[in-house]
Amino acid sequence: MSMHNLFPIEEGKFNFMCHKGLSCFTKCCFNLNLILTPYDVLRIKKRLNIDSNTFIDNYADIDMEEYPPFPVLKLRMDENKKCPFLTKEGCSLYDDRPTACRLYPLARASTSTGKEVKERFFLIKEEHCLGLNEDRQWEIKEWIKHEGVEEYDKFNLPWFEIVTSHNELLSDVKDNLFKNMKAFFMASYNLESFKKYILNDKFFKIYNVPERYRDISEDTDVLSLSLEWIGFVLYGKKGNIINPMDTSQGY
Ligand code: SF4
Ligand code: SF4
Repeated sequence: MSMHNLFPIEEGKFNFMCHKGLSCFTKCCFNLNLILTPYDVLRIKKRLNIDSNTFIDNYADIDMEEYPPFPVLKLRMDENKKCPFLTKEGCSLYDDRPTACRLYPLARASTSTGKEVKERFFLIKEEHCLGLNEDRQWEIKEWIKHEGVEEYDKFNLPWFEIVTSHNELLSDVKDNLFKNMKAFFMASYNLESFKKYILNDKFFKIYNVPERYRDISEDTDVLSLSLEWIGFVLYGKKGNIINPMDTSQGY
């Protein structure tokens, strides 16, 4: 997808319907620059029953250009520029497909004002996509709900806030950018490492965390905690779960 293919959505409505009967079926799953959110990775690795390191080694590359200075993951295409999860029957992880695949043919641009994240949606018009010629009309909100994006956005939106607010980074974070970007990457994409990190004694001396989060087994709880933690470390932002007690010890 290039910027030239993005168009404003007239009156918040667009025509689209994707189905196997179209001759373009699966053509959209090639040669993608597809950024993965932490919740995308959580869902896919759970479905494949693999850990974060295995997922990253096999299916992702680090991208430094989408949200500098944040290292984020993008889906690695195979040697034929095909998405590794594409089969003749379509997407092999359809129920756990990434946010960007759910939103298609919409693209979302998130920008931070320092106080809130603003979202804008665009229509991706690619010649090969015949679904855009279908009669079914959608409103943006209706499409987001239909594609199950709301569930993903519970975790995506706090993360977008983190990666779009780089102008607000604390000054000592800017002075130690490499160390802090490593912490960001762990908190975003390696929940096993983050879990090991928080289960040491020091973490609970620095942060007051409700009992429920001290014995975490649900990946979604780990992700909620990790996003709050990295928001505090990078921006000094207080969240709903963790309450910093003694940050003089560092993290
Ligand atoms: S209609 Fe568009 S989204 Fe659906 S298979 Fe065809 S190219 Fe892909
Ligand atoms: S994850 Fe599924 S929907 Fe997304 S590009 Fe790959 S095959 Fe297509």
